[in-house]
Amino acid sequence: MAPDDVEELRAIVGQLRTNLEARGRSGLVGVVTTKSAPKAAAPVAAAAVVEHEHEHEDGGGKAKTGKAGLKVVRDELGDCKRCKLAPSRTNLVFGVGNPDADLVFVGEAPGADEDAQGEPFVGKAGQLLTKMIEAMGYTRADVYICNVLKCRPPGNRNPEPDEVASCEPFLKKQLAAIRPRMIVALGKFAAQCLLRDDTPITRLRGGFRSYEGIPLMPTLHPAYLLRDPSKKKLAWEDLKAVNAALARVGIHPPRPPAG
Ligand code: URA
Repeated sequence: MAPDDVEELRAIVGQLRTNLEARGRSGLVGVVTTKSAPKAAAPVAAAAVVEHEHEHEDGGGKAKTGKAGLKVVRDELGDCKRCKLAPSRTNLVFGVGNPDADLVFVGEAPGADEDAQGEPFVGKAGQLLTKMIEAMGYTRADVYICNVLKCRPPGNRNPEPDEVASCEPFLKKQLAAIRPRMIVALGKFAAQCLLRDDTPITRLRGGFRSYEGIPLMPTLHPAYLLRDPSKKKLAWEDLKAVNAALARVGIHPPRPPAG
């Protein structure tokens, strides 16, 4: 076997190991595919926002959470070369915000601005997301913002299954460290990935679902809203529903939300 083939096989085995280990810990089995993954649980009512465990076991001991937990995940990611996006990235875009946030926003992947700055959602779509977060009564520092992929796909093409297989375990670990009370999935890609459901985002949006026991609201991606501003009111309805569901369990934004 040629040395290149050996190297490729080694990379594939590494990716599979990372993926299966994370799946084992999360109780899920199998390898990520975008189409044939099992359906997620049925939609849940907003009222089903419940108290959840604030500590989780990881192989016998208590896993670190919050800032320390995120540091463990960031350290494990390191100077990641697990997939083919590594050579073309400027910065790995891990995530930003409050490591103990009640509310986490998950997008698809960094774009050019995010790749240049190493921070998620800082370009045009990011500026709209910031406004949406502020309209809810939060700042970017109050919530946590991250993506399914940590590196920019060239030309902003869609993430590919092998890239998701390498990177999604780290998103899952981030979410396990933060233990949010609510997740907002921004756009088709994040929603379908976290829910293992290929229903179009236009049908997924607006209804609460469950991601590993955490309520998840799929909504429209800010980049889509920039292309079709008439849909902003739908996204705002979703975010108001998020605020209302959190209010029912006593979680209120630090500032009054917009009308
Ligand atoms: N779009 C995303 O999905 N994520 C970002 O970080 C920026 C744009």
